[in-house]
Amino acid sequence: MNSPDSARAPDRHELGARARGYRAAGDALSGRVIAITGASDGIGRAVALAAAGCGAELVLIGRSVRKLERVHEAIGALGAAEASIATLDLEKAVARDYDQLVEALMKRYGRLDGLVHNAGILGTLAPIEQYDVPTWCRVLHVNLTAAFALTQVLLPALRASHDASMIFTSSGVGRRARAYWGAYAVSKAGVESLSQLLAEELEGSTAVRVNALNPGAVRTRMRQQAYPAEDPRTLVSPEDIVAPYLWLLSAQSRGITGQSLDCQAGR
Ligand code: NDP
Repeated sequence: MNSPDSARAPDRHELGARARGYRAAGDALSGRVIAITGASDGIGRAVALAAAGCGAELVLIGRSVRKLERVHEAIGALGAAEASIATLDLEKAVARDYDQLVEALMKRYGRLDGLVHNAGILGTLAPIEQYDVPTWCRVLHVNLTAAFALTQVLLPALRASHDASMIFTSSGVGRRARAYWGAYAVSKAGVESLSQLLAEELEGSTAVRVNALNPGAVRTRMRQQAYPAEDPRTLVSPEDIVAPYLWLLSAQSRGITGQSLDCQAGR
């Protein structure tokens, strides 16, 4: 006899719907320390502000102090807990830069409850035959290798949490590649893979869960770079897609790991 439907684990579509429908209470992330890369702009900035609004203490990671200071100010204007700024250029950072970041984070907070790998670059859209090799290396490095390096150094801080959540930012072309998306598509396929294998490695032996989110088409600088002729008014804003991030970062998604979910249905 088949087991009853209620005993079946929800699939990624059901989990995605649950994540999209999440309405976070003002204290949903209270007491949680959350680091976000690429917090200076676009989706990362929106997630940082939303998480701060739900009580999280933010570590804003990015390469531009000036832009991060503006996000810091916006968080202050919400009356939320004071955020900290960690400058890290993911293209240029060396081991010492990563170590300094971890040292400062551990000194101030002693642990990390959430890590959102969000920073990314598009590179160029071009056929593989003509794809510029230095651009290929840069995109793979920023989107994939730097996320791996940051994960590795921050894992001890995440292990120190009683309920830690790591989120990788994927893309539709990371799941099914499309012509001309070159290094970007390959980097996002790598991100999906890294997220899955890390989830498996940590499941059972740690309280760290690992999932990937595909934002779908969102009105940001990167989207405009990829689709310059598109009318941005036809797209959702970064603020419209924060619910799945908040859900994965909150206790509501405890036990969910190894998933790749969509921030927008059907995209
Ligand atoms: P934006 O271009 O608006 O933001 C990218 C962020 O990454 C910025 O904060 C940027 O910093 C940061 N960043 C870029 N290079 C570096 C670097 N070398 N070191 C540190 N930070 C860096 O893009 P989105 O908000 O659209 O993208 C966010 C994520 O969402 C990316 O991973 C992207 O691939 C993914 N995504 C986006 C989609 C969309 O439609 N927008 C669709 C699918 C996936 P700075 O402000 O200094 O430039």
